[in-house]
Amino acid sequence: MPYKATIESTLRNFQYNYIHRIIATNKYLFKCKLSNSNLCDFCSENIETIEHLFWECKHIQPIWNQLVSFLEQQQLNVKLSFLNPQIAQIASTATTPITMPAIAPPERPASEL
Ligand SMILES: [Zn+2]
Repeated sequence: MPYKATIESTLRNFQYNYIHRIIATNKYLFKCKLSNSNLCDFCSENIETIEHLFWECKHIQPIWNQLVSFLEQQQLNVKLSFLNPQIAQIASTATTPITMPAIAPPERPASEL
């Protein structure tokens, strides 16, 4: 499954790192003394793990909710969860391209820029 979603090398590298859980979150950076906090950069309420950053954070939830609405409009019944890779399976087996509506990523706090 890896590398089937895109040919763009940056996204492939990100996909590889995500699948192998080697993304440098604040939990890891704090442990290595490379960050001042282990809290999420977006909400500052929870420890920034991969699961929190890409699934649980209140700033990412609107994106998942929009995706669920989009999938329902496409009549694709997919039960989304952090460990369920069905989205990638749908994308790789679709006979026609699935065009997602534009979704703006959450902005980092100004103090991080
Ligand atoms: Zn958060």
